[in-house]
Amino acid sequence: MTAKPAKHDELQALRELSAALGADRLRTQGAGGNTSIKRDGILWIKASGTWLSDALARDIMTPVRLEPLLEAIAGGDPRAATAVDFVDSALNPGGLRPSIETSFHAIIPAPIVVHIHCVHTIALAVRRDGEAIARERIRGLSDVVAVFAPYRKPGLPLAQAIQERLTKDANVFVLANHGLIVAGETVEETAARVARVCGAFAAPARMGPRADLETLASLVEGTGYRLPHDPAAHGLALDPKSLMIASRGSLYPDHVVFLGPGLARGTIVRGRLEAPRFDPPPPMLALPGMGVAIHRSASRNAEAMALCLADVAARIPEEAEVRPLTAAEEGELMNWEAETYRQSLAGDRGAKPGYL
Ligand SMILES: [Zn+2]
Repeated sequence: MTAKPAKHDELQALRELSAALGADRLRTQGAGGNTSIKRDGILWIKASGTWLSDALARDIMTPVRLEPLLEAIAGGDPRAATAVDFVDSALNPGGLRPSIETSFHAIIPAPIVVHIHCVHTIALAVRRDGEAIARERIRGLSDVVAVFAPYRKPGLPLAQAIQERLTKDANVFVLANHGLIVAGETVEETAARVARVCGAFAAPARMGPRADLETLASLVEGTGYRLPHDPAAHGLALDPKSLMIASRGSLYPDHVVFLGPGLARGTIVRGRLEAPRFDPPPPMLALPGMGVAIHRSASRNAEAMALCLADVAARIPEEAEVRPLTAAEEGELMNWEAETYRQSLAGDRGAKPGYL
């Protein structure tokens, strides 16, 4: 008989799972997604602005006292929004700030909670018929009890929507226009559930033509823009169906936070890329039929979100009815984290406090 793993092993196991999820761009991207473990009255939650992919390389987990936070959430205490007042500073020598999504990690009672921006989940969760399709896909998964939450701004509004639908056995939460939460008793159980659910939601990506990198390079030469590091990002503009889907509006919060709302297009004037005159300049430009360009000041988060949009859009069928975020929903993301949006242009990687 194998002994139950010691508690410290569970935290290490969660770090390993976090790093693996963060390294797979189909599971989560950039600073998006967060993981947590509850033990000894402390909720260890990914720090704001850090990357899950860094979970083994640096300390990214913030200790938050669970009971006072739950009381604050239940009592409508505004301090619940950032949870910074509930950080156990004695356990937090690095001065990390908890993720803005800490509140739903707190209210889901399971010891392990994993939240990711799984591309396959998002490709379903932006569709008006997404819930019906997702329910059908996971019907045969015996250990999955799924809850579907409507779109809400990340933070307390989203946590509240989850709380209203929370049942005792719920262990999978599909968040409209956002992503996936999976809960479990152990890291191993949770990891297996993540794999099964993401596998059930998986859809093949449409393949567009290959980008003409030489031509694209000549178009951006001498401009404020450069080519994306991963040529797969060009797929968004090379595939007319993906471009049409992405042109309907912003599909999920991180897009708005790191790339700005909607999809900006560049034009070619005398063999040179010309950007729309926005201030600040759009972090990404689509060049229909050719590819995308990334602003030279764009952060690694913006770069990751450019790739994510190509990955998501390529998995949404042309005929699907998509629900983009409304202008009001975009606005609350822009105004709420205007600082983070500027940060996305600063080329910084999680050094400053940020969103998610
Ligand atoms: Zn999220």
